[in-house]
Amino acid sequence: MYAWSHSPRFQHLALFYLAYVLGCGFAQALAIVPGITVSIWPPGGVFIATLILTSPYSWPWWILIGCLAEMTAQLVWFHSPLLAGLLIYLGNALCAVVGATLLNRAIGRPVRLETLREVLAFVVLGAGVAPLASATVGSAALAWFGVKSQTFTSVWPLFWIGDATGILLVAPPALVAIQHWRNRTQISAMQWTEAGVLGLIFLGVAALALKYDFLLSAYIIMPPILWAAVRFEFKGVAVALCLLALTTMALTLSGSSQFIGDPETQRQKQVMLQLFLAISAFSALIVAAISRQHQQALLSLQQSERSLRDLVETLPVMIDCAAPDGEPVYRSRQLREFLGYELEELDGVGKSRLAGTIDTSVHPDDVAGVKENLARSLATGEPFARMLRLQRFDGEYRWVDTRAVPMRNAEGAIVQWNITCLDIDGEVRAQQKLRLAQERLGRASQLASLAELSASIAHEVNQPLAAIVANSLACNRWLSTDPPNLGRAKLTAERIIRDANSAADVVSRIRALFKQSTEAKSSTALGSAIAEALALVAEEMEQRRIRIDTDVEGDLPPVSLDRVQVQQVLINLIRNGMEAMDTTTEDRVLGIRARRLGDVVQTEISDHGPGVAVSGRIFEPFFTTKGNGMGMGLTICRSIVESRGGRLWAEKNKKHGALFIFTLPVELKAAP
Ligand code: ADP
Repeated sequence: MYAWSHSPRFQHLALFYLAYVLGCGFAQALAIVPGITVSIWPPGGVFIATLILTSPYSWPWWILIGCLAEMTAQLVWFHSPLLAGLLIYLGNALCAVVGATLLNRAIGRPVRLETLREVLAFVVLGAGVAPLASATVGSAALAWFGVKSQTFTSVWPLFWIGDATGILLVAPPALVAIQHWRNRTQISAMQWTEAGVLGLIFLGVAALALKYDFLLSAYIIMPPILWAAVRFEFKGVAVALCLLALTTMALTLSGSSQFIGDPETQRQKQVMLQLFLAISAFSALIVAAISRQHQQALLSLQQSERSLRDLVETLPVMIDCAAPDGEPVYRSRQLREFLGYELEELDGVGKSRLAGTIDTSVHPDDVAGVKENLARSLATGEPFARMLRLQRFDGEYRWVDTRAVPMRNAEGAIVQWNITCLDIDGEVRAQQKLRLAQERLGRASQLASLAELSASIAHEVNQPLAAIVANSLACNRWLSTDPPNLGRAKLTAERIIRDANSAADVVSRIRALFKQSTEAKSSTALGSAIAEALALVAEEMEQRRIRIDTDVEGDLPPVSLDRVQVQQVLINLIRNGMEAMDTTTEDRVLGIRARRLGDVVQTEISDHGPGVAVSGRIFEPFFTTKGNGMGMGLTICRSIVESRGGRLWAEKNKKHGALFIFTLPVELKAAP
């Protein structure tokens, strides 16, 4: 049932039949040893190649058609007794089945004969081991039936070597032709010309080699056959072997081959011919395999080189390679595009490429430092790492992080410097901004440090107040004397006035200070102020393992409050929220939400802490429930927000915890 469902196409079976019968004809034509019916046996090659290429389920079909073909040949040429013919065919079929099975096992399907291993397996198993079966069964049949009185021992070697030669000559061309037919490759005009010239030379040399044995050995065929193998690999070998087989047949039939001799020497000459053909085929196959492997190794080397180059060219980092003395030898595409010039453009200007690059592209302020670091690294072989400003093709200087490490050979000598350049301009500028914001916030919180302020107020006001009290008492005493000492009393009263004025001065100085800080009128985009405030506390959040959940409307209008003050309020509320969650173990999420509600922008800061315990008093100055708290944060926040017409209050968070909400009026004029 399997065999039936795997029946091959009719035309393939017909082709096989034809090839088999023609192969038998070829064998018959070359069977010129007197008294021996066997010679080179091409049907063996046709058979084994067919079984290798087809599914084992279809093999019964090929064996059947092969039998028909062989019986036809028996009828037309060999005329052996029917049973002997059948037995000989049984041996041939066994040879093909054994060979194809062994090769399928050893190489795995599909057998392509492309590597040295595959060719060796083919030669040993297909052309060496498999014909043992056909030679043994066939010789036994010939001897048993006494065909032309041949004996087992006289026929066996010729039978075996004939089958081996047939397989070596026919199977590789058949395999190559069929596989090449399946995936045709383009051959250039040059190659066709070369193939044509080679073909002519080959035919000429083959004719000479086979015809004359004086001076010229038959093996002068080797150079053209190896040429075909090297240049055209298996295709070349296939064509060469076909040409060789046809030339052999033509010269043998015409009787002008050097391998035809008198009846005594014919047997030995036949063996020589078969050996000649087998060795030619074997050598050509081996050379073709080596050439193919070499080509493939070359190809895969090129491919890996290309993919490495692609990798280097597409990495999101600029790459530079320099000679041991620092001279650049290669630059990746990113670096070339960044700089806007090719490496070669630096040549011929009277200075080295390295000096040219530094002078052209490094920021003048960085040149001295870069040169110094470079000189040290080149002298000591220490890695180079430095941030510097590099001029981009459009003239803009951008911060890049440059690192260079030496690549050393087995002896430890530096053979190349590998350099990476990463454009970190965005990061550097963001850091600069952050630092600036931190400084400003630091200054602002110094200002807001009310404890210090109140201490100094107390200190400054206390002194004149004490003096006023003392002087008032003295004045009272001078006036109470009899008679009152008016002169002294007046002097004391003047001192009282002076001290009172200095106390008033202190107060007005402090007021002036406050006025200055709160009247710095400007407006702020709340979204970016929130982002900056979060960046400032990001590290603290991470340490406390608190997750932030922001929900800030994209196009919030600017609010009428100074950026630093907005951040002061935000940071105060965020920090309170974080501290409130210190005792919470799970769900440590701090929420920040900002949206526009009519004329105001409302910001909500929520936490999952225990919530506000004494809600009525938290905005009072110096109210705190924390051991190290000052109780001024919320007071200051509220006074800042209210100074701009906003509101700040606390609510209970939906789930649990506290929710602090503040509103700020939208700035009607566009922010500067
Ligand atoms: P401090 O943080 O120095 O105590 P604040 O004025 O910022 O000063 O806070 C006053 C008090 O309000 C805190 O001691 C605390 O009891 C309470 N409070 C503030 N924020 C929260 C909050 N998110 N959850 C619970 N209580 C809070």
